[in-house]
Amino acid sequence: TQLIKPRIRAILSKELPAELVDKLPKHWTQIGDVLILPLREELEPYKHRIAEVYAEVLGVKAVLRKGRICGEFRETNYELLYGNDTVTIHRENGILYKLDVAKVMFSPANVKERVRMAKIAKPDELVVDMFAGVGHLSLPMAVHGGARVIAIEKSPYTFRFLVENIELNKVQDRMTAYNIDNRDFLGENIADRILMGYVVKTHEFIPKALSIAKDEAIIHYHNTVPERLMPREPLETFQKTAREYGYEVEKLNELVIKRYAPGVWHVVLDLSVFKR
Ligand code: SAM
Repeated sequence: TQLIKPRIRAILSKELPAELVDKLPKHWTQIGDVLILPLREELEPYKHRIAEVYAEVLGVKAVLRKGRICGEFRETNYELLYGNDTVTIHRENGILYKLDVAKVMFSPANVKERVRMAKIAKPDELVVDMFAGVGHLSLPMAVHGGARVIAIEKSPYTFRFLVENIELNKVQDRMTAYNIDNRDFLGENIADRILMGYVVKTHEFIPKALSIAKDEAIIHYHNTVPERLMPREPLETFQKTAREYGYEVEKLNELVIKRYAPGVWHVVLDLSVFKR
């Protein structure tokens, strides 16, 4: 980036009003050969040209404007500024992730967690990924950890990439995918480990996770939590619900993934649950 920024500046300083040159994005996210660019409002009239220059200098085929991730499927819906094909293959930690960056969330801030999951999985244990996405967290567990994985993804569009990624990473023998709402999943008392990689409403899925879990299991419980409720939450809510369903919970670990919104954090708890 040290060499790239001056090149971009040199080109655009001839075309943009001087006061806007300093407002050009200094950070960006590259996923495969697609770029996500945070662009300030003032740059709106020049957004297509700016995107074109970043694309040329960085050698990517498409540029999206960073925006909000929203809805049940956590879709990006980012505005396309340059190029027309936003489907790419991203390589990370020896895993190939095929996805449409314009639709599917893939957060660079979650990379530590994807790497951590690769190390935490154990050979032949059964992992149920209740919010699989394109296999963000569970592909590393199957590929590097040798775990067996049941990956559940509700969005039909995201599911297509999940299926392709299982093949791309050659773990068809270890990973099975279901395109359903995880609340309709019929398996009970089967999982050694459960991934709950979701935010905002994850607590609504605690009873389902407990019914999928074996009598003793590990649950990686993600949720978003206002800072003023930390560190009591999100453990307290999980424990309360688990007790109602006859489970004891022990917290093994707690990590902050990233800032989700002002004063709100995305955290993950590693929980050991066991039936009383
Ligand atoms: N778990 C990955 C991670 O943490 O990086 C992917 C996270 S992505 C934000 C969550 C995924 O869960 C989305 O692809 C969304 O479509 C899916 N999802 C949401 N509700 C679901 C449900 N009830 N059953 C199955 N999948 C669901």
